[in-house]
Amino acid sequence: MYDIAVIGAGINGSCITYELTSAGKEVILFDGGGIASGGSGAAGAFISPKFSKSGDLKDILHSAFCYSLDFYEKNFSDLFTKCPLLHIAKDEVDDVTLRIYKEKTDLELLDAPWQERETVSINAGIVNAKSMCEALSKSANFKEEEIVSLEYADGVWIINESYSAKEVVLATGAYKTLLNEPYIKLRGVWGHRIDVKTSTDNAHSIHQFVSISPSKRGLLSIGATHNVHYHPETAEEEYDIQEGRMELLEKASHSIHLENIEIIEDYMGLRSGSFDYMPMVGPLVISRETLQSDTIHFQTKKPDFTSYTYYPNLTMINGSGGYGFVLAPYLAKILVEYILSGKEVGKKVHPARFFARWAKKRSEG
Ligand SMILES: Cc1cc2nc3c(=O)[nH]c(=O)nc-3n(C[C@H](O)[C@H](O)[C@H](O)COP(=O)(O)OP(=O)(O)OC[C@H]3O[C@@H](n4cnc5c(N)ncnc54)[C@H](O)[C@@H]3O)c2cc1C
Repeated sequence: MYDIAVIGAGINGSCITYELTSAGKEVILFDGGGIASGGSGAAGAFISPKFSKSGDLKDILHSAFCYSLDFYEKNFSDLFTKCPLLHIAKDEVDDVTLRIYKEKTDLELLDAPWQERETVSINAGIVNAKSMCEALSKSANFKEEEIVSLEYADGVWIINESYSAKEVVLATGAYKTLLNEPYIKLRGVWGHRIDVKTSTDNAHSIHQFVSISPSKRGLLSIGATHNVHYHPETAEEEYDIQEGRMELLEKASHSIHLENIEIIEDYMGLRSGSFDYMPMVGPLVISRETLQSDTIHFQTKKPDFTSYTYYPNLTMINGSGGYGFVLAPYLAKILVEYILSGKEVGKKVHPARFFARWAKKRSEG
């Protein structure tokens, strides 16, 4: 029997696996498509904060950005490239946002090459997406297997009727929901990244309409999670790769003039975001049992998450939107502290917030 089974080997599943195995736990890690076969394998994996004026998402991404830069550099410096990031405003509204960001931020601002639009430049970095997931999960027993059944019996989780573990962590991204809970609100957004050969040198990681990596030996990546209307499970037609490539190159041309371009490889995947854009990390409410309670008032504006009934020894780490590589080390730290020491998860990232909203709406009729 394993201490913990982690389902999903994207950056979230890999980071929690790393934390758990580092703490001496026996971990079995599953992924139906292989390590980083989902959104994580497609990512440009830029480590960037959120350049907005204010808000919860900006705050958590700021903390996660500082934490993750340090985490990757300290533990996996060979898979992490430090580079200056150039964030260029898209339009006039963005010009104002970036001006305010620059006034308020405590990050060190670097000199930036002149741009027509407002620009912020800071020290940042890029992760080697697939190799990072592999390195993080190397101390677990990895099985390339799709999980189709999860049963809890006599204090143990039975997975695919074959494996047993005391705890389960769901890190399944936007691909499959193993639990049928109506309040879990996640949506998949399709993304496409191309690696291109070019004779143009680029020293910065540039973010504007798409993200462009610095060039290394004449190669750079251009990526975006831009196609919100395409979903592989619902679309009637296949994703048009050629159209996606043209869109990426056209958008990149607003930020940098790239010469002698040859597309070397395409990467595509779904990234999962929550409906309020904040990530989801922590235990999951059993809605059916919790709704049966006579003592809980679901119409309150200040729900008490401790009054809910939760799946035993089961947690989730998901909903990172376009910032999975920024958030994962930070979220994994929150989750490992919850699993190993029972440290409470903050309400803003707790999955129970979605149950509270769903149950309130339901009770209002
Ligand atoms: C083109 C693109 C560019 C991006 N650029 C960036 C960027 O620059 N910076 C950044 O921080 N983020 C970026 N992102 C977002 C980032 O990739 C996601 O936030 C991140 O990958 C989410 O990781 P995850 O582990 O939650 O999900 P995933 O990587 O999707 O992993 C989930 C895994 O679970 C597996 N799985 C699901 N169900 C089961 C099951 N039942 N049994 C077994 N396995 C299962 C899937 O096969 C999958 O591998 C980008 C995304 C895309 C698509």
